[in-house]
Amino acid sequence: MSTRSLNILLTGGTGYIGSHTAVVLQEAGHRVFIYDNYCNSDPAVAQTLQKITGQPFKTIEGDIRNTDLLQKTLETNHIDAVIHFAGLKAVGESATIPVEYYANNVQGTISLLQAMQAASHRPRTLVFSSSATVYGDPQYLPIDESHPTAATNPYGRTKLHIEEILRDLAKSDVSWRIACLRYFNPVGAHVSGLIGENPNGIPNNLMPFVAQVAVGKLKQLNVFGNDYDTPDGTGVRDYIHVMDLAEGHLAALNYLGAALAAEVVTNTETQTHTGLHTFNLGTGCGYSVLEMIQAFEAASAKAVPFLIAPRRAGDIASCYASTTLAAEQLGWTAKRDLKAMCESSWHFQQKAAASAGSNSNTTAGA
Ligand code: NAD
Ligand code: UDP
Repeated sequence: MSTRSLNILLTGGTGYIGSHTAVVLQEAGHRVFIYDNYCNSDPAVAQTLQKITGQPFKTIEGDIRNTDLLQKTLETNHIDAVIHFAGLKAVGESATIPVEYYANNVQGTISLLQAMQAASHRPRTLVFSSSATVYGDPQYLPIDESHPTAATNPYGRTKLHIEEILRDLAKSDVSWRIACLRYFNPVGAHVSGLIGENPNGIPNNLMPFVAQVAVGKLKQLNVFGNDYDTPDGTGVRDYIHVMDLAEGHLAALNYLGAALAAEVVTNTETQTHTGLHTFNLGTGCGYSVLEMIQAFEAASAKAVPFLIAPRRAGDIASCYASTTLAAEQLGWTAKRDLKAMCESSWHFQQKAAASAGSNSNTTAGA
């Protein structure tokens, strides 16, 4: 099949998932452009990405709500496809400042779509970062893509609203090719240890919290509940290595036919997938909080002291993905195991802790 290398814009590309995806795309021969306002990332990440891949990355500082700048960016760089990572993502915070979440995530996405519609070369390929949180409390497991959606917090509802907008857009204009990727629980880091997840302040998510306890930055972990209906009573989640997740984006772009040479697109319609397509990106395996602690202790050779604490409001017992659709349609499955997730996370955490004077937040620019 004849393919070409693409100019791909990553909104939020210096963040945790975007930065790892930038490496995968660049290494696959595409040209990556990063558009970020750095509200939750460090501009130095671009240099780190260059260090990892040996190739320069063009970065544009801007807010996704700046439609004119986005349109100019799309046109100047002749962008073929956009992967839309930019957004606010803290569930708890979204309940405190919902208007900011809707403004940033929903309004920001509308602005991006307007810019893509206005761009003279008509870029129509989009991959969107959705989330397993759109499923709410699962009615059955594993969760497949036709499971009913019922987000239980403002953050999740921003993702659902955006999915609806994208569905309407794809129906209104058949030239759009859109993939909504519903991520399960991304963890781990690039093998270099130079990029990874290093949130500002006290982490909300399990894995960065465990890593910071192991490295001695935090004293102990609170395990939120051990009375769930799960094998050991603690919450079960589908943790996926961020590099597997990153590779899922490349698979989605290929599925949409983004990289097919123009003449192939014209001559062989069946090789592209227009419309909106939704995929879970997970491993299909669930691990409990206690299993995660044990795996991290083994990978780091450090103790992770913990206390059993009350359940966290809004938490569910178990959540893991059906991976069948992504395997069948995208030809993608997660390959890296729990050991690799914990080892890479530990490697990154050690480097981040050692990197004196680093003022990184979500992604370290070590
Ligand atoms: P992140 O916070 O590390 O990255 C998001 C990036 O977007 C940051 O670099 C931030 O500066 C940028 N950004 C935010 N608002 C912006 C705006 N208005 N204009 C320009 N840039 C802006 O988050 P992440 O973990 O890499 O997540 C990426 C996407 O995946 C998000 O949309 C998130 O909701 C989604 N997601 C994440 C997870 C997870 O657990 N990490 C799970 C499911 C879905
Ligand atoms: N968790 C925990 N202590 C923490 C953070 C998380 O016990 O400090 C548990 C949480 O209750 C859930 C699992 O770890 O069962 C994963 O939580 P996370 O916030 O990482 O992901 P999410 O709940 O959004 O899937």
